[in-house]
Amino acid sequence: IKWTEGRGWHDAELVPYAPLSMDPANMTLHYAQTIFEGLKAYRQPDGTVATFRPRANAERFQASARRMAMPELPADLFIEACDALIKQDRAWVPDSGEASLYLRPFMFASEVGLGVRPANEFLFMVIASPAGAYFPGGVKPVSVWLSEEYVRAVKGGTGAAKTGGNYAASLVAQAQAAEHGCDQVVWLDAVEHRWIEEMGGMNLYFVYGEEDGTQRIVTPELTGSLLPGITRDSLLTIARDLGYTAEEGRISTEDWKRDNENGTLTEVFACGTAAVITPVGSVKSERANWTQGTGEPGEVTMKLRKALLELQTGRTADTHGWMHPLG
Ligand code: PMP
Repeated sequence: IKWTEGRGWHDAELVPYAPLSMDPANMTLHYAQTIFEGLKAYRQPDGTVATFRPRANAERFQASARRMAMPELPADLFIEACDALIKQDRAWVPDSGEASLYLRPFMFASEVGLGVRPANEFLFMVIASPAGAYFPGGVKPVSVWLSEEYVRAVKGGTGAAKTGGNYAASLVAQAQAAEHGCDQVVWLDAVEHRWIEEMGGMNLYFVYGEEDGTQRIVTPELTGSLLPGITRDSLLTIARDLGYTAEEGRISTEDWKRDNENGTLTEVFACGTAAVITPVGSVKSERANWTQGTGEPGEVTMKLRKALLELQTGRTADTHGWMHPLG
């Protein structure tokens, strides 16, 4: 779907996947006015297909557009475009367990010009790719690197938008994590370098065992510099449905280390569309190195993972109206 200043959205079309040709002065290549989304379509037990919370993705896409001085695509059009692509060939939606069809809606400036200003022409597209189960061999905890040198986002910056530049800014720290033998980067706040924000492509949750035997799960609050994940938001509700206390809060690297040592912080996990839920097994930084809990996937982590996946794959009732059936 194209957008042109003065004309709005026009010329929606469904075309075979093919390379795009691009002018060397395309503004996106120079000024990175781009946004994207990621969501999944799951096969349901009766053979139909449904996407998970596409309206939440559509609304986050609009919020990203506002931050990046881009036009807002109406939510219904976003959902219709995703549906149209899936309906083109439903056989692309895998029929087994946790496998899904991953959808990637995105928008970029399609105008040609060298001046730095918001573009007047954009292109919105959706592409898709089948995605196998994230952990085909069983859930495996990840090791994380606390990045104290680099920051991903600052207050007033683009951290809460799903824009390419955030990911470009992450790459050097991701490479550093790999050099230290870690799978993922954990980003800290840009001012004090101690408040936990999120992972490279996932939000984080901390599970505390309370003295009365109940469990409390806490996720870093939305400070404006981390992505408001849809999985994160869903889990606040699912955790409460399962009887846990679930809340947003502030957790520092010192809190993490201390509460892990004193045994009150029993589990840490990351969540996002791609992996759904991934346990965190160990933590490293320039100054510290510790095993999180037992280093193995925790009970609460696995319960939440099961509950969310069962909902997405249609094996439990959709009590929150989150599934969008395509028929
Ligand atoms: N943080 C970042 C930086 C991400 O890229 C993602 C993936 N979209 C998430 C968190 C998790 O968001 P969601 O649950 O909506 O996939």
